[in-house]
Amino acid sequence: MGLMRAALLWASDNRWLRERATRFGFVRRAVTRFMPGEDLDSALAAARSLGFGAVFTRLGENLTTLGEAQAVADHYREVLERVRAGSFDVEISVKLTQLGLDLSREECERHLHGLIQRARELGNWVWIDMEQTAYTDVTLDIYRRARERFPNTGLCIQSYLYRTEKDLESLIALGSGVRLVKGAYSEPPDKAYPKKADVDESFFRLAVVLLGPEARAKNVRAIFGTHDPALIRRIEEYGRAQKLPAHALEFQMLYGIRRAEQERLSNAGYKFRVLISYGEAWWAWYMRRLAERPANVLFVIKTTFAR
Ligand SMILES: Cc1cc2nc3c(=O)[nH]c(=O)nc-3n(C[C@H](O)[C@H](O)[C@H](O)COP(=O)(O)OP(=O)(O)OC[C@H]3O[C@@H](n4cnc5c(N)ncnc54)[C@H](O)[C@@H]3O)c2cc1C
Repeated sequence: MGLMRAALLWASDNRWLRERATRFGFVRRAVTRFMPGEDLDSALAAARSLGFGAVFTRLGENLTTLGEAQAVADHYREVLERVRAGSFDVEISVKLTQLGLDLSREECERHLHGLIQRARELGNWVWIDMEQTAYTDVTLDIYRRARERFPNTGLCIQSYLYRTEKDLESLIALGSGVRLVKGAYSEPPDKAYPKKADVDESFFRLAVVLLGPEARAKNVRAIFGTHDPALIRRIEEYGRAQKLPAHALEFQMLYGIRRAEQERLSNAGYKFRVLISYGEAWWAWYMRRLAERPANVLFVIKTTFAR
């Protein structure tokens, strides 16, 4: 792992640094490139102005009480209601740790099922983010239980993990919603491919499975969450070779990253959504965005001094 990436991932977990750095105006200003604001109104305004469908996720830190998990669940309920009232094309994506997984699995599942149930009544979807490998098994387990009861839910899987190929087989059998990404955390080499080229190749192999006959027969909703131009091109070419119509492919990207490509994919007839993160707890998340592309650090420096 590059030194810069390792340092940024270390910073993402460092409380001392977070408490100090987030007070600086220039850090807060730089964050606006990736986050329209800290509250739901800012996210809704961004979704409207972009003109794409969106997925909302509220940034959060580790919870210490079940009351905080309740507040997160209440917030997402409010999102579902406001999206419906304002006719926004917005789905939600939640982290199980934000719904209290570390404190009580039972409460976490209760919140999750409540949200999916309400989303179903409103004709909407709930996605589950994938977090660090310590949570992979339990996340899959909770997802499978939710999927048995509700059709309107999907799970994120990470191509950097060796295990994902096997996990995907079982998800396809469920006829699930699957959002494929590379993976954003720092994982050991016995669990995740250390080389980027291998992560990319794994992504493409998994994409081929997601577009294959079994997944289609099971009505899997497959989403490719990447900004990688080479991978996107390969997936588009594969789709064309399989004679899949453009609208059979769904891409998603993060707010603020590769906007021209977002327009292009949407105009080309693919399903496209932008994932918008917002909230006060943005430090760890922002450090991970910088770690994905250390050139962004240069951008931050330029933003800082260009005023
Ligand atoms: C919709 C969506 C949902 C996600 N959900 C999860 C999740 O639940 N769990 C999880 O672990 N990860 C999640 N991720 C993050 C993901 O794992 C990657 O860390 C992230 O998408 C960067 O990988 P990439 O595929 O874009 O490829 P990369 O190889 O990292 O990047 C390819 C190219 O994209 C551009 N790019 C990528 N990142 C940036 C950036 N930060 N700033 C500017 N340009 C950039 C650059 O041009 C870069 O060369 C999600 C990503 C998306 C898009």
